[in-house]
Amino acid sequence: MPITIKKVKAIPTAPGGTNLIVVKVETSEPGLYGLGCATFAYQVKAVCTVVEDYLDPLLQGRDVDDIEELWQLMYQGAYWRNGPIANNAISGVDMALWDIKGKIANLPLYSLLGGRYRKAAAVYRHASGSNIDEIEERVSYLVNHGIRHVRVQWQGYGGAKNVWGDFPEDVPEGANKGIYYDPRTYVRKAVELIAHVREKFDPNLEILHDVHERLPLPLALEFAKELEQYRLFFLEDLIAPEEPEALDQVRQNCTTPMALGELYVHPMEYTEAMTKRRIDFMRMHISCIGGLTPARKAAVLGSYFGVRTAWHGPPDLSPVGHMANLHLDLSQPNFGIQEYCNVNARIFEVFDGYPDLRNGFIYPNNRPGIGVEMDENAAKRFPPKEGVTGWTHTRLPDGGLHLP
Ligand code: MG
Repeated sequence: MPITIKKVKAIPTAPGGTNLIVVKVETSEPGLYGLGCATFAYQVKAVCTVVEDYLDPLLQGRDVDDIEELWQLMYQGAYWRNGPIANNAISGVDMALWDIKGKIANLPLYSLLGGRYRKAAAVYRHASGSNIDEIEERVSYLVNHGIRHVRVQWQGYGGAKNVWGDFPEDVPEGANKGIYYDPRTYVRKAVELIAHVREKFDPNLEILHDVHERLPLPLALEFAKELEQYRLFFLEDLIAPEEPEALDQVRQNCTTPMALGELYVHPMEYTEAMTKRRIDFMRMHISCIGGLTPARKAAVLGSYFGVRTAWHGPPDLSPVGHMANLHLDLSQPNFGIQEYCNVNARIFEVFDGYPDLRNGFIYPNNRPGIGVEMDENAAKRFPPKEGVTGWTHTRLPDGGLHLP
């Protein structure tokens, strides 16, 4: 008798202050269930609706073993495909099915993905602040705790509201509120910061930086070329995914390694970026591309084109998602680096089984499946925040909107 899907439900929660969504797939086998990450922090209800009103009835009674078939069924089920709402909902189910498969086999997920290519995954951590001393202090702290890869950044990605002040007073009369920044100032201050960190610390320290798509192409080119001398591990999101050909110009003009992809949702975006050798690191948020099944395929594709993985690992990812990243990190030969952020302690009131950070590496807990448990009653104590987010309202000095 096959084990079948009995119920699919979405569990939104925000124990650390950031909205998280976990999908639970219950099976015909008493006590056997799986958890998957479907976190799209800014449109929680939309994802929960897709999971409970459309995927649950589609999947009930189907064999939990058939992950590829079920993934494709969800993907083409509503005819139009892709987008963060649909992909996150699919991801929640997809990861939960892999979790169930691991529990049935009594093996950790990395074992099903090919076994351990490495025992732990190296991480990069963030150092940011509103002045150079503060950032230097944070880098020192991280280095003293065994971290070898540090992303250095002005606070708020250089938005004037947070760091360089005063733009809101210079903008045109009646300009809308937002997070103001100036691209030219951004480049000048970022180069100053990166040069300082490169000079102050051991030459083997790996430095990373995230542009967050904030520069027009000529400045982006100037910036990437200028940074060559500081030997970055990677420069992230120098170019928006809407302008993929612009990366060819970057490639022709400098050697700074390119990381891209946390905003990718469509497979053609990352397939083309890899096969045309436009990027060195893929940065996808794996729930936003549809879960483990497409992420594993993307990792394999990248291995044929010299592209390493650097999966997105922000606070708006549940512990289930962080562990899914880690299982891929451990098992895929072309792993590059894993992003790892501070964890709010209240997360542990709801979840058990987070990746364990020791001396610059994260380790799995080796439980069967993904290895994360969730206290659903505790989750209810931390309801998700409703409403619209404002951090994406980035503006240029003339008041015009710019990508966040
Ligand atoms: Mg980023």
